[in-house]
Amino acid sequence: VDPSPILETIAASGLRVTGPRRTVAVLVASQDGHFTAADLVAEAAARRLRVGRATIFRTLDALAAVGAVERIDLPSGEHAYVLCRPDDHHHHVVCASCGRTREVDDGRMADVLAEIERLTGYRIDSHRIELYGTCPVCRRRATRRTRRVGHTGQAAGTAS
Ligand SMILES: [Zn+2]
Ligand SMILES: [Zn+2]
Ligand SMILES: [Zn+2]
Repeated sequence: VDPSPILETIAASGLRVTGPRRTVAVLVASQDGHFTAADLVAEAAARRLRVGRATIFRTLDALAAVGAVERIDLPSGEHAYVLCRPDDHHHHVVCASCGRTREVDDGRMADVLAEIERLTGYRIDSHRIELYGTCPVCRRRATRRTRRVGHTGQAAGTAS
């Protein structure tokens, strides 16, 4: 996967594209769905890349600060990242079982925010929304599994 959009975001925000940042960008670009800092550390070790754990953590922070990745909190409480673009506002819907992500736009969020402003008297300046669920691939897999099991769900021992 091409790391150049990440490198462009780094350069556009005034950070230097150093060797370690380039290496971390390559690792990030090769992730499928969400990933943790520990995933990148493990992959760097597996690929024998000369980039340390501290550098990976620091670079992920820098990438999050410039919007090349977004930090998300998984339902498990674990912190993870997804690849992101800083240019236009959007949210991510994340599959809680396989980690696939999709970008979604705000839809009618503006109406919801206006309603919240009206109810609270606050002026809303920004928001973050993380959406978790089951992706189409995992839903199909679950449906197949259910069909295979069939009607075995009768409750046993219904004493009367
Ligand atoms: Zn994004
Ligand atoms: Zn999934
Ligand atoms: Zn939004």
